[in-house]
Amino acid sequence: MLATPVLIADYKTKLWEMPAPVVLNEALSDERVHVLTASINKFNSCFKAGYDFVIFEVMKPEKARAKGSWIKLVETAHFHSDIGRQGGEQIVSVNPTDADGSHKERTPFHELCHALGMAHEQYHVHYPLENPKVIDALLSTGRGERPFTLENMVKHIEENKFVSLGPCDFQSIMMYGRFRSAARAVDPTITEPETYLSETDIRVLKNIYQCNGRPLPIGRPNPVAWCEATRKNIKAWSLAKKAQTLTTFTSTSTKADKPGARGRSFSQ
Ligand SMILES: [Zn+2]
Repeated sequence: MLATPVLIADYKTKLWEMPAPVVLNEALSDERVHVLTASINKFNSCFKAGYDFVIFEVMKPEKARAKGSWIKLVETAHFHSDIGRQGGEQIVSVNPTDADGSHKERTPFHELCHALGMAHEQYHVHYPLENPKVIDALLSTGRGERPFTLENMVKHIEENKFVSLGPCDFQSIMMYGRFRSAARAVDPTITEPETYLSETDIRVLKNIYQCNGRPLPIGRPNPVAWCEATRKNIKAWSLAKKAQTLTTFTSTSTKADKPGARGRSFSQ
């Protein structure tokens, strides 16, 4: 079975007419315009093999407006993009100094994939949340990442906002940060593809945008039974972890590493 990234459930109503128009924020410096344009060109080049297909086209605001829907790429302290085409101007924000402190394409690629309809890979029904090693890795303190709550994640899955087909793709650009680290707890050979986009990321985007003339296989919603079982398991782990954390704080309070962040994860 082929791995397939997670998509917003109603992605078919949120597809872009290709190429999706991109307007670069007028406040960007020439240097940043150059960097972001290069990112978009590199993104497009990932789809060239065997096809003459352009995903994004950087254009002037007037031309983009005439298309009805367009992405406005801006740089802020945060990363953000809605999932799929929203209609009208759609802000996609990237931070020029991403988590790795680099100016690489990873963050723009990730956010642009959101705009194309892709959701986080950890919401895949086959993300190995049943594995205690994964849970431990998720709950460990990340590099400046916000406290993570499993409850929150399960809530997202339960809301059936996403569809996932086939096995989970650990190399997807939508599997990021500690989620990829957690996957490595199960399979240490997991790496990030050189171009950030995994083969599966590219394949699914080609399919939903019909670049290769083949429609995406029929999706299926997240199974309710799986959600129920996972929620139950996570509750049990949360309780066990809370008990363990309390014991650790009591016995080694001077060595506690960021206890606030860890404690807050399980405050409810
Ligand atoms: Zn994201």
